[in-house]
Amino acid sequence: MRQIVVISGKGGTGKTTVTAALARLVENKVLVDADVDASNLEILTYPKTVKTENYREGEIAVIDPQKCISCDLCRQHCRFDAIVVDDAGKYSVDEHACEGCKVCQLVCPAGAVSMVEVEAGVVKQSETPFGMLYHGELSAGRDNSGKMVTYLRELGADYAQQNNLDWVLIDGAPGIGCQVIASVTGVDGAIVVSEPTLSAMHDLKRVVELALHFRVKVGVVINKVDINPSLSREIRRWAESQNLPVLAEIPLDKRIIRAMVEKKSPIEIGDESLTDLYRRIWTDFVNHYFPK
Ligand code: SF4
Ligand code: SF4
Repeated sequence: MRQIVVISGKGGTGKTTVTAALARLVENKVLVDADVDASNLEILTYPKTVKTENYREGEIAVIDPQKCISCDLCRQHCRFDAIVVDDAGKYSVDEHACEGCKVCQLVCPAGAVSMVEVEAGVVKQSETPFGMLYHGELSAGRDNSGKMVTYLRELGADYAQQNNLDWVLIDGAPGIGCQVIASVTGVDGAIVVSEPTLSAMHDLKRVVELALHFRVKVGVVINKVDINPSLSREIRRWAESQNLPVLAEIPLDKRIIRAMVEKKSPIEIGDESLTDLYRRIWTDFVNHYFPK
């Protein structure tokens, strides 16, 4: 079983469009949506959720008002200003400020502080016409999406192993933050989708550097090539100078945009040459790095 992530560096390059197309073309795989801040793959894969799990991560402090003797020690020692005292002198913890360091619990002379796990969102397992999908939603205010991505990937890998699947296909997040690092760490390959704009090219280089740092095999897709043919050529030249295969150059095609608006992938357009372009992204990538 191998894990392949589709990433982009810059948002809006068409990463999820490529993933949605591959979801239809790659056989014997499980899908993971690792873009938990903007989970879009589910829009294009028609999921029917079969299991929902509350996702908990980390701990925060809570104060038992029955035990609290208002000594103020917890507030004085909390380095994150997470202890709140209301007008009536009642002590409580601001759950968004609390970092779970447990100092308040250690200094409390009354045993009034306990630590509780935080509900950080939900994780879903859904059937789709293209295989099982693992996806999740972070609760508002929870920002450690990297941990949720790691958990989703573990669920996807377990499912693949139990069902003897060959691939875990992951829709990664844009950027190079902790979500992307969690998407890329330990995967076998990364298909990086870029477009011929200066900002996309800049972000392409950064995310490729990140992936290579983690010893991940990288292939490049240039999307919307005709919006700037000379910059497209520059991206190709740069990729070749890094010994990275350019897997496809996808034209700017209004039918693809219309398909996305209708919550369809480019494959549903039914144009065999276009479908073949997306199919070759996968076959060229696999043949280049993982030949049988
Ligand atoms: S656990 Fe740490 S951060 Fe949270 S309230 Fe206590 S001292 Fe402050
Ligand atoms: S240290 Fe304990 S007893 Fe003192 S104010 Fe905080 S919670 Fe109350």
